Amino acid sequence: MSRFWSPVVQTLTPYVPGEQPQMQRLVKLNTNESPYGPSPKALAAIQEQNNEDLRLYPDPEGAALKQAIAKLHGLDPKQVFLGNGSDEVLAHVFVGLLKHSKPVYFPDITYSFYPVYCKLFGIDYQTVALGENFEIDTADYKTPNGGIIFPNPNAPTGRAISRSEIESLLARNTDSVVVIDEAYVDYGTGSCIPLLRGNACPDNLLVVHTLSKSRALAGLRVGFAVGHPDLIEGLERVKNSFNSYPLGRLAQAGAMAAIEDQAHLEKTSAKVMQTRAKLVSELSSLGFETLPSTANFIFTRLPGHSGAALYQALRERGIIVRHFKLARIEDFLRITIGTDEQSSELVAALKEILA
Ligand SMILES: *Cc1c(COP(=O)(O)O)cnc(C)c1O
Repeated sequence: MSRFWSPVVQTLTPYVPGEQPQMQRLVKLNTNESPYGPSPKALAAIQEQNNEDLRLYPDPEGAALKQAIAKLHGLDPKQVFLGNGSDEVLAHVFVGLLKHSKPVYFPDITYSFYPVYCKLFGIDYQTVALGENFEIDTADYKTPNGGIIFPNPNAPTGRAISRSEIESLLARNTDSVVVIDEAYVDYGTGSCIPLLRGNACPDNLLVVHTLSKSRALAGLRVGFAVGHPDLIEGLERVKNSFNSYPLGRLAQAGAMAAIEDQAHLEKTSAKVMQTRAKLVSELSSLGFETLPSTANFIFTRLPGHSGAALYQALRERGIIVRHFKLARIEDFLRITIGTDEQSSELVAALKEILA
């Protein structure tokens, strides 16, 4: 604490990212990174950009990358917004589209950055309780509101809702922006992006994606949002009032090559889904109850056992998972899907702990 801190800084409770431990030989299953490398084409594109041109500022608009994203998703480049990771995109979304006189709604159990941004930017919010089985019921999101945001699939539960359910939410909720954070959409959830194509594009749906998870580029920091051009224009106004060059040359080049390598994404996501199914069934034989997941992580508990104790026992065996000390979910572990070998090490460690 310094006497020079502004009043808002004194009230902040910052987001705590999953730890990035420096120990060697660790089974790191705590921050939902991909266990497989990024597209080799992305790595080659970054190498190629690693030259004297780095003295020059990058394209502030990221036009080529926007074009590639628009092409992949059947959209117009004017429907694409870029940011330094989707966390930055989300920050601009809160300031530019969700800060209104009425509170913004999001689930009580969800990505814990949302309330952090609300506090930073002075945005009123209300949480909406998940159902009995940790599901989002869009009927619980009443109008009027200042906006609605949730991940689909939700984090840390891994549970998704269908695109048609989001369509009916949009039909009821026409006077504020609905933001769907699709960070984990590539592991078996239907994306809402098709709703944005052509003239039928609603003026109040924004879909946020990241290259950190399924494209295995968490270290590059690239995310984007897609939606109606008028929403995108609002985000550009915020971005150009904050940092006009959020994506460096290496990031733009690498992201573009990654977006164009859909085959790599499909191959690695399919592998993750296969490993997930196997792990869920092995955990089930040990007595674990796992929520149905369409993400690259699972949310699981062992009845009669404390989540904190299991977390600690795994940690002592060099396996790092995520545990949240929060009401209702304190007995759950969020476990990232790694390689088959990492899964085997996890299951072996759990057997040892439970023996
Ligand atoms: C990981 C994650 C993000 C942030 O991703 P970055 O692009 O790395 O900033 C956003 N939303 C959710 C729900 C996430 O889990």
